[in-house]
Amino acid sequence: MRVVEPVVELARGLWTTLRMMFDKPVTIQYPEQKKPVKARFRGRHILKRYDNGLEKCIGCALCAAACPADAIFVESSENTDEQRYSPGDRYASTYEINMLRCIYCGFCEDACPTEAIVLGDQYELSFTDRRQSIYPKEMLIEPILANAKPTPQKTEPGVYTRSVPEMKDPLD
Ligand code: SF4
Ligand code: SF4
Repeated sequence: MRVVEPVVELARGLWTTLRMMFDKPVTIQYPEQKKPVKARFRGRHILKRYDNGLEKCIGCALCAAACPADAIFVESSENTDEQRYSPGDRYASTYEINMLRCIYCGFCEDACPTEAIVLGDQYELSFTDRRQSIYPKEMLIEPILANAKPTPQKTEPGVYTRSVPEMKDPLD
């Protein structure tokens, strides 16, 4: 009995090893390979643009007011038709998020009237000192599409008078 029991246990262990050798591996070769995130994943923020390159952010600071962690700092300035960053009167001349404070709750996203701030699928956040954890607008804003113009843009007077675009009622 004393001899049989360890042999059975050994055989059972070896059988498990043998069985797992033919299973599909669950490990991936990160960082070359990346696992797709879930549809509702909340990663690093992105400041969105319209297709013509204008910035969606109008510097209203509602996101900063909604943030429970006091992680967002916004400073706004006036747009002109000679130097336009966003539709309407104002744009965010400074936009910063302190990633050490952020708890990825998504309240900023919900509070934004222009859908400018979005928590995307980027999860590769690393910094080696506290200053690097403050992401400025230049890091957060999305790149311009190939056929769009960078900001600031020279625009026709009277075209971009509305800060918040007409949006479809989600209940319709
Ligand atoms: S996700 Fe939440 S904690 Fe992070 S910046 Fe937005 S509101 Fe603040
Ligand atoms: S991201 Fe949205 S809520 Fe925040 S300042 Fe810009 S427009 Fe306002």
